Amino acid sequence: MIQALEGGCLCGRVRYRANGATIHVNHCHCEMCRRGSGAPVVTWATFKTSDVAFVKEPPTFYRSSAKAVRGFCSTCGSALTWQGDASPEEIDITAGSLDRPDAVQPADHIWTASQIAWLHMADDLPRYPRQRSEGTTKPT
Ligand SMILES: [Zn+2]
Ligand SMILES: [Zn+2]
Repeated sequence: MIQALEGGCLCGRVRYRANGATIHVNHCHCEMCRRGSGAPVVTWATFKTSDVAFVKEPPTFYRSSAKAVRGFCSTCGSALTWQGDASPEEIDITAGSLDRPDAVQPADHIWTASQIAWLHMADDLPRYPRQRSEGTTKPT
């Protein structure tokens, strides 16, 4: 049986529960994630949208591009979700907002073409310069 993963924002206003396994977990180095979080990299855990429930207040949503909407807490500002218009059946949740981030396991890095030079992550995970669907190059 898969244990439900729970998490929420810094102030506790937005809380969620994710039932079911992650579809994918990755580190995203893109500029939009960087600005949206204020952190050098954002780790995203992708779930089925139908597996995720907001159990207190829902996030506030911001359309960050023509393709996607990001959810955050309007009280404390924590970055919480990313959802692409092309795949509404999936929702990404910031692994850093999980109560137990160690419960998920990142599988790769994306958008490493925009990775900050001083950020060193010593893992052997595949590194994709852009989106995963655009393929990989040798680890850099
Ligand atoms: Zn909050
Ligand atoms: Zn990103």
